[in-house]
Amino acid sequence: MLNLSDIRNQFPILNQKVHGHQLVYFDNAATTQKPQAVLDTLNRVYRETYSNIHRGVHYLSEQSTEEYENVRKIVQEFLHAARPEEIVFTSGTTGGINEVAFSFGEKYINRGDEIIVSEMEHHSNIVPWQMLCQRKGALLRVIPFRDPGILDLDAFQKLLNEKTRIVAVAHASNTLGTVNPVKEIVQMAHARNIPVLVDGAQAVQHLPVDVQYLDCDFYVFSGHKIYGPTGTGVLYGKEKWLEELPPWQGGGEMVECVHFDHTDYAEVPLKFEAGTPNIAGVIGLGEALRFLQKTGWDDIRRHEEELGRYARAKLSEIEGIRFFGDAPGKIAIFSFLVRNLHPYDTGMILDKLGIAVRTGMHCAQPVMDHYRIEGTVRASLVFYNTTEEVDRLCEGIRKAITVLSR
Ligand code: PMP
Repeated sequence: MLNLSDIRNQFPILNQKVHGHQLVYFDNAATTQKPQAVLDTLNRVYRETYSNIHRGVHYLSEQSTEEYENVRKIVQEFLHAARPEEIVFTSGTTGGINEVAFSFGEKYINRGDEIIVSEMEHHSNIVPWQMLCQRKGALLRVIPFRDPGILDLDAFQKLLNEKTRIVAVAHASNTLGTVNPVKEIVQMAHARNIPVLVDGAQAVQHLPVDVQYLDCDFYVFSGHKIYGPTGTGVLYGKEKWLEELPPWQGGGEMVECVHFDHTDYAEVPLKFEAGTPNIAGVIGLGEALRFLQKTGWDDIRRHEEELGRYARAKLSEIEGIRFFGDAPGKIAIFSFLVRNLHPYDTGMILDKLGIAVRTGMHCAQPVMDHYRIEGTVRASLVFYNTTEEVDRLCEGIRKAITVLSR
């Protein structure tokens, strides 16, 4: 069992008043707050061990390099990857997807080829592929979803053909909360030797991930959504892909030797890490993952599931609420509209009550198009949230109804 007050005490930002009310932070899908252990690590690194990595012979550089490279092993274990060399540090999910879209696209995409994404993707997992299609004259195909937010795998099966070069899907949707059957998707694509990239931005903080079990070819996530620092992220790639793909960016760190007539690239994964990376951030990310592991997946899962069920039940008592995304086994992300209230107005009133939610299209305009709406209110919950906070949200929505219906 999680000791919630102990957990919450470890997130100093949560203990504050906003507009005179105790803060309720329900914008976790946009970014999560940071535990003291991560804050302390960033502080410690900059005070005690900070230096540039990989190229120094001096003490601090060696310390920094060791700490940075140690996080590669932490991430390897976290994702259950086969080798630390399969872990590339990026600036975030967006950075990772763009990296694959460029590297893979350069080598394998030609005119008339097809790339498959899904209708419930975040813009980050649409636009880089669209840009690639434009560069190469390829075609973007889309797996539709059916109510209540479930990918249509029959339609996916029909989309797969000899022109398909790669499939890119979210592990969990940032808007609908659906956890997609990525293992099945990978199996279906692999039956035709088509690789799969999984966008894990909304999954890694909610469920344990085993990339070898999923057998996906690429898996990406952002540090800031998993209690780590902003500007950090991870691209997992199967070794054979990382070996084969050309680097995305050129620069220092990613080279073995540079002459004007030729350059040899560094070994994987450094080949994909041009320039000085976010050294302290990566070390902070390692601390965030350690913190999660220490808290324990079983307890995190149990609490988030109970909280999700509680929130779903309490919210549905509000007359006129309409949910977008209600798939079984979903994570605790609730996108909704209440009667004919504009989501922005609802969000503003909730803010005045100290409750942070997100309003709008959540960088998933195709999901809005699917429902023919402009936006929703989104409350996204994680393991530091409580049932009392859910009650506050429901009260706040009722207040918004009263105020805005006048
Ligand atoms: N994919 C999904 C599913 C997301 O939820 C997000 C962030 N909202 C992203 C990609 C992009 O992540 P980042 O902005 O950290 O690169």
